[in-house]
Amino acid sequence: MNRTKKLWKPFCQVAHRALPSTSRFKLSNYNYNFSTQIYFLDCTSSSRIQNPSLYCGLCYYFEILKFSGRSFCSESAEKASNATCWNCNEAPKAAPFLFCESCRSVQPVDHSVDYFQIFGLGKKYEIGNEKLEGKYKDWQKRIHPDLVHSKSEKEREYAAEQSGRVIEAYRTLTNPLARAIYILRLEGVEVNEDETVSEPELLMEIMEIREAVEDAADSQTLKEIQSQMQEKLIHWGNSFADAYQNRNFDEARVCIRRMTYYHRVNEEIAKKL
Ligand SMILES: [Zn+2]
Repeated sequence: MNRTKKLWKPFCQVAHRALPSTSRFKLSNYNYNFSTQIYFLDCTSSSRIQNPSLYCGLCYYFEILKFSGRSFCSESAEKASNATCWNCNEAPKAAPFLFCESCRSVQPVDHSVDYFQIFGLGKKYEIGNEKLEGKYKDWQKRIHPDLVHSKSEKEREYAAEQSGRVIEAYRTLTNPLARAIYILRLEGVEVNEDETVSEPELLMEIMEIREAVEDAADSQTLKEIQSQMQEKLIHWGNSFADAYQNRNFDEARVCIRRMTYYHRVNEEIAKKL
């Protein structure tokens, strides 16, 4: 069974999870408008959230990555052309061309622009999160659906899609695991999250960690385990960065598998805390 299919999350939850607390107020407005147009996830449908307890961050990221290439774009947006502005026909003054500086129109989504390019970054695993937040806010000041509510339906659609994609990009790049999976995907390397673990050492470690989480008597113990998992995530994130830089994609996938497990442990702990 395709596990990700039954793990759809409401987009509003997705968006809230995507942002630091300082951005949440604005995002609430965004959700309100956004939901009227492309709330296609149908979050009220129980059939799509059959078993929330199975939800983990990684599954969510897979869904997000799926949006970017498929469901999360209208037919019109797929025909995006970045040659000139659809409204005033001016050539873009800067790349990526999400917004026309000449007539202030939101442009259609161009899926050839990757998430790193949206944030003015090179395709590199190690990035500074603080730069992402500033750029994220800059984009939302230009392409937020609230800003075009009185404009044409076409432009409102562009704004909803562009804004949604910037949120996806922000969410993906600020999470080390999601970023690792995404950057490999850009190289044409897919990661199977359900791949069976065969390394005895890792299996043993996973069992021990799970037992420790189950036996934890108080939140302090859980937080200590969480802190250990965080260290492991950093360690394997660094290993991933090296493997990716050396284009050793097999090793990169091993790192992602490790990170996936530690990430899942943290998700489990978060539910208990
Ligand atoms: Zn224009």
